[in-house]
Amino acid sequence: MIPDTSLKLLKHKVLVERLPEHHPQYSHIYQKWRQFESGQAGEANLEYYLQQANLDSPQFLNGLRIEHKSAFQIDWILFDLGYRVILEIKNYTAPIYFDPHSRQLIRTKAGEKEGFPDPLLQVDLQHAQLRRFLDEHNIEQLPTFTIAVFVNRKAILHLQDYPERRRILTAQAIPSFLEKIARKHPAKISSAQNQEIVSFLRDHHQEAHFPILERFGIEWRDIIKGVPCPRCGRFAMNRIRLRWQCPHCDERSTDAHLHTLFELALLSENRITKRMAREFLGELSPDAARKIMQRAGFVKVGTSKGAYYRHPDLAPFI
Ligand SMILES: [Zn+2]
Repeated sequence: MIPDTSLKLLKHKVLVERLPEHHPQYSHIYQKWRQFESGQAGEANLEYYLQQANLDSPQFLNGLRIEHKSAFQIDWILFDLGYRVILEIKNYTAPIYFDPHSRQLIRTKAGEKEGFPDPLLQVDLQHAQLRRFLDEHNIEQLPTFTIAVFVNRKAILHLQDYPERRRILTAQAIPSFLEKIARKHPAKISSAQNQEIVSFLRDHHQEAHFPILERFGIEWRDIIKGVPCPRCGRFAMNRIRLRWQCPHCDERSTDAHLHTLFELALLSENRITKRMAREFLGELSPDAARKIMQRAGFVKVGTSKGAYYRHPDLAPFI
């Protein structure tokens, strides 16, 4: 399971790399991509601190998304043997004031004020949705704590007026916070049961549908096609006797198409028609395209005209 946020990040990255810089949407998409990159760095920071906590038998899920009545998504959940913790992650920078009356966060950046919803309201709602889902599947409930974690070191949190401030943490505060909860909540289920619950939830994870070209109004013809060179990054390698060769730096590769096909899967909602593959790989013959897709482990779905291929590691319709 690839967390939804990293899938979105990857999609934006591919689009930035394959959209000409003069395209009217380029700078907007570039900004979005940078935001996701910064979010990813924040998550890596969080992950480091999660691993520092000295806990019994912790299992983590990152980016779990369940479609149950309405869909809900949880940034991180910790499953231990006597308790659970749901974490809502925020990557905001700049001074943030927690307004207890409006239940809003107010960020001041470059003299401008901006409001954001209270992350504790968000995470409590996720908890309620998860609880219903677990109930319906007869999964044992354990005491569950909900917190918001600010992972960007540039965030300055003004919590003095906020009554729920104990549930607002920075990443650095995570280990001692979790260890304190763990001490008060001895094991109620076995490690095998815990593992089983986590696997069950992972099996019910559903990727969000995010057709990136459609979202930004990008036409297929605007996308730069071809296999980029893994050494110099330039487009496009030529297929010469079952190998790829870079016309700029002479780099040769036998498998440069694998990354290109992964990119194509991300741009196409993981529904790659043979026509798209041929075009993306530099006008290959239908037969060569079919062979390449098969060898790369792509799964053919449907027959004749409506047939398409899907990347084996990605969910369909992403
Ligand atoms: Zn090259």
